[in-house]
Amino acid sequence: MAAILVIEDESDIQEVLEYNLKQAGHDVTTVASGQEGLRLARDRSPDLVLLDLMLPDVSGTDVCRALKEDSRTRAMPVVILTARDDEIDRVVGFELGADDYVTKPFSVRELILRIRAILRRNEGAPPQPNVIEFGQLEVDRDAHRVWVAKEELDLTALEFKLLLTLYDRRNRVQSRGALLDAVWGIDTRISARTVDAHVKRLREKLGAARDYVETVRGVGYRFTEEPLG
Ligand code: CA
Repeated sequence: MAAILVIEDESDIQEVLEYNLKQAGHDVTTVASGQEGLRLARDRSPDLVLLDLMLPDVSGTDVCRALKEDSRTRAMPVVILTARDDEIDRVVGFELGADDYVTKPFSVRELILRIRAILRRNEGAPPQPNVIEFGQLEVDRDAHRVWVAKEELDLTALEFKLLLTLYDRRNRVQSRGALLDAVWGIDTRISARTVDAHVKRLREKLGAARDYVETVRGVGYRFTEEPLG
């Protein structure tokens, strides 16, 4: 069972979500405004946030951005509900750091499966040293914090997971497919191009440590064995 915060103002969709998420064994709290949603996300630390983009007070994109900018809520998975296909590229993350999305009208069954996949990939991390020191890179796994040359980076939950996946499999080439499985879960609607875009963004954020993530042309990516410099 997971605690799920639903931020959605349309009452018929609220009802459908509440009913089905409860049937799936989750504990559901629903709010109709973005401000109220932000407040509850900070106060109650739900396991996952379902966020509609069209809200009456502030936009869902602003809510998502605020969640990802706040260290208290940054690691919280966010699934976006959107009626507009053309918003998706922007939404799934590069700017906002959302973990997944569904477009309205959505299949409830599919939504429940996606939520389950996200919750699963966020739990049960294998036992690893909690603090990593590798060249200029430092990572605190539990705190979800990353530093390069002592400067803290602002990574989304997804970028953090991508970095750790690459690091934990360092010196082994990871195909885009392997990264999709490990970082995004079973979701097949995410394309290889999306993996490339996320790696590119992660590298930009890594700055001086960007070369630790190597491109293996035609295959995928590899975290370097030895930090240079
Ligand atoms: Ca709405």
